[in-house]
Amino acid sequence: MRSTLEITPLEKWLPLETHPMVIAGPCSAETQEQIMETALSVASIPQVKIFRAGIWKPRTRPGAFEGVGTKGLQWLQQVKEQTGLLVTVEVANPRHVQEALEYGIDILWIGARTVVNPFSIQEIGEAIGNHDIPVMIKNPLNPDLKTWMGAIERLNRMGLTKLIAIHRGFSFFNRSPYRNAPMWEIPIELKRLYPNLPIIVDPSHICGNRELIPDTIQKALDLEMNGLMIETHINPSKALTDKNQQVTPGHLREILSKLVLRGESGNIEFSYKLEELRSEIDKLDEELIEILARRMKVVEEIGTYKKVNKITILQLKRWSQLTHDRIQAGVKLGLSREFILRLLESVHEEGIQRQIDVMNRDES
Ligand code: PEP
Ligand code: MN
Repeated sequence: MRSTLEITPLEKWLPLETHPMVIAGPCSAETQEQIMETALSVASIPQVKIFRAGIWKPRTRPGAFEGVGTKGLQWLQQVKEQTGLLVTVEVANPRHVQEALEYGIDILWIGARTVVNPFSIQEIGEAIGNHDIPVMIKNPLNPDLKTWMGAIERLNRMGLTKLIAIHRGFSFFNRSPYRNAPMWEIPIELKRLYPNLPIIVDPSHICGNRELIPDTIQKALDLEMNGLMIETHINPSKALTDKNQQVTPGHLREILSKLVLRGESGNIEFSYKLEELRSEIDKLDEELIEILARRMKVVEEIGTYKKVNKITILQLKRWSQLTHDRIQAGVKLGLSREFILRLLESVHEEGIQRQIDVMNRDES
């Protein structure tokens, strides 16, 4: 199912003389000094056009720092006056929207935890009413393109046309080394379905640590994403939220200066295809590992059974039958005999070790 979006192009409402367009600023507004110092530093980086700060922080568990609230909006007004940067905050309910509008916030963003709920999106859209404010919509926590599209479409049908999607990665079992797996095929599919919708990438929440950020933003640019949102803090090690992923303004400047701008490559179809194939490989490997882990569990159960019934671990007849059958099955599917044998030997060796451990386990 596909509907079209009515989108006001980015360049109609945002000064874009530099590429990539960057949104910088801390995960959370903490103090007036932290906000002002960070803003003044990032304002001198040519690519930075927008200043971000979370005022109301959605925290997974209660008791953590939940944001400074309304007073942070005054600090952002001051940022606007003193730096000329546009300012953006996360809104999660109609009250946030009202306050942000009252304080002259330029752009709103909807976070990953809010975007999943159509009621929230509807209420936020209604609170915006006919204010012509741009809204950035993060992807939901779960890798669900339809929910992301649904929120964008809902706001668009309510008359909002200055929309941007933010790719911030997806919660995923086995997501290492990322905090949120990028699953690039999802924003790519969004781009394919809505070619006129700008997508910017938030490498901070994808990576979860600053070391991975440079490669991730290079990749974002190579995939022709339209901009970046990078959490920037004057003193990341003292940050009250997301300290491992924030960079200093100096570090941000350095990272941006090292990016390779390849321009419109004309080869984007190739990059997308490669990305699609790689993500297929990632998924298959994940399944493979899960299956191997499940197999080892069954092997251990057999070990317990053998122990109780006092049977030896190595059952040669069973092993040679199994090897023979698996090789036949593999060869039928185009795998080489040697490969299957090597694989089986390795799996078998691990299985035997697991059963030895079970046998030696002290049950007392
Ligand atoms: C944030 O940008 O600080 C934030 C809370 O992000 P997300 O909604 O992507 O988790
Ligand atoms: Mn954050």
